Amino acid sequence: MPPASKMEIMADGDASETLKPLVFRLHENAPAIIREVLLERGWTEFDQKEQDDTDWNLYWRNSPFPMTDHHSIKPWQRLNHYPEAVRITRKDYLARHLKRMKGAYGSALYEFSPVAFIMPNDYVKFIAEYSKERQSVGRPSYWICKPVHLSRGRGILIFQDVKDLVYHCTVIVQKYISNPLLISGYKLDLRLYVCVTSFCPLTIYTYEEGLVRFATEKFDLSSLDNVYAHLTNTSINKYGASYKTYKEGIGCGCKWTFSKFRSYLRIFGVDDMLLWQKMNNIVILTLLAITPLPEASNCFELFGFDILIDDKFKPWLLEVNYNPALCLDCSIDDTVKRKLLHDIVELLNYKQVDTHRQNEMSGSKAVRRQVPWRRTGKSTPEEAPGLLSGRKVSTCISASQTPPALQFARGSVNKVSALTRKTARAHPRKTLTSELREKMNMPKASSPVKTEARNKQLPAVHSPLISAQLSRWSPSPEVCNYKLSTRPYFLSDKNQMPTRQVGGFVLIFPFNEAALQASKDGTDVKSIIKEINKLVSKQNSTRQKKAQTV
Ligand code: ADP
Repeated sequence: MPPASKMEIMADGDASETLKPLVFRLHENAPAIIREVLLERGWTEFDQKEQDDTDWNLYWRNSPFPMTDHHSIKPWQRLNHYPEAVRITRKDYLARHLKRMKGAYGSALYEFSPVAFIMPNDYVKFIAEYSKERQSVGRPSYWICKPVHLSRGRGILIFQDVKDLVYHCTVIVQKYISNPLLISGYKLDLRLYVCVTSFCPLTIYTYEEGLVRFATEKFDLSSLDNVYAHLTNTSINKYGASYKTYKEGIGCGCKWTFSKFRSYLRIFGVDDMLLWQKMNNIVILTLLAITPLPEASNCFELFGFDILIDDKFKPWLLEVNYNPALCLDCSIDDTVKRKLLHDIVELLNYKQVDTHRQNEMSGSKAVRRQVPWRRTGKSTPEEAPGLLSGRKVSTCISASQTPPALQFARGSVNKVSALTRKTARAHPRKTLTSELREKMNMPKASSPVKTEARNKQLPAVHSPLISAQLSRWSPSPEVCNYKLSTRPYFLSDKNQMPTRQVGGFVLIFPFNEAALQASKDGTDVKSIIKEINKLVSKQNSTRQKKAQTV
């Protein structure tokens, strides 16, 4: 018998009431673990030959989507990229944006990224800075040169003397952090996962668990050519001679989890919470630099923030990755990334109506699900729901025009919304996939059971018990008849605030009501910066009080 996830599951006793699994679509080169995780969750894979073009719920690709894909997005679909998210993921763009923000909002806040010059354009400025540093007494300066369009440590050069600087393409030359935090003599950096579920209003989650990536040879400023001592990329270190050997204080391989790192810090009396807050502030301030992005519905972006910590426990932003590696090089990768992906799906908060994947439901009048944050009554025949326009975010919603989400909350309550809210109160974070898993008696997301074994555990389709359960869970005709006005998928069912925590994802923005308001009506960056300043001074005074009591 084929596994249940591979076929449409008929609800008990009524052939017209069907429950379909959610469907994912992968572009070529999408990481294999995404397929594995979604199959584990009972999803099925989109089949271009068999299925209608719009018959999917999640499309994952490693490169930006063509704008036509954004334009034709349907209410039940999500794309894993925002248009123009690359504005912070290319090293030169990031450097330029952060420099602009530093100029506009002061270096006190924006001093978390090492001074950088984009070459060849900034050559003269670089030489001026280089000469100034050389003349000043104290420690000699080191620089790192990185091609802007390469990743995984390729083409990187570390130098002290400008005569060693050679480049054949656009590069950034950045101050090399020559006093990194070392554990047992090994350099490390942190890969922090960040999920933006909306740029308007700005909604940012950071993932509590992450990867600590070690260099596999001891840090040594007298051998700048040794990539195994200076670069922490796994793609490099896995080929190092010491990768597999046991390294004192580190172990085998080149990775730790954040949890292990935090325990390590605590043993040495380091305030890991403070470090975490500082890292979150870096994330918010960095993302503010590219806000607003062009309006786009139903997208999310998973970024990989690379953060280096120096020996004073100051975190530095090295770069932001567009497609953070999701390959599984070791068991730590498996633990962290598999759970991360499960939690992303939870964050996307699919509802049962999404399984229908159609605007018109059987036996009902036209049912249209409003795309998050679109103005009501704006759809024209040419402008399908979810259609993007070239308008900037600032025109996305105006103060006078209540987004559908808020209308929903402010009293256009009807049978369906009442029903949804009632359910939501009982199960504040029950998403469709978690329900589906429960109903199908599938193992929890974090359980490291092989996909094959999971598929075997799926219930037989003809099981009367399962059929009965599923029929109860299927949307009633009443629900199908209702013209849905859906809130943004990332909003919690209470208070219209984004959900504070979903699995390992913690909401870091908006962090208060004022930040929420300032990010709603076209992102008021100035007000948000004001709030961040308040937040930082609050964090500092809490820290001082704590230090005094110790
Ligand atoms: P890539 O995209 O090629 O991985 P990164 O900017 O992440 O480029 O740099 C690769 C590695 O080089 C980092 O993981 C880190 O170990 C090291 N590195 C990069 N920039 C700096 C810096 N400014 N100071 C110290 N180390 C750095």
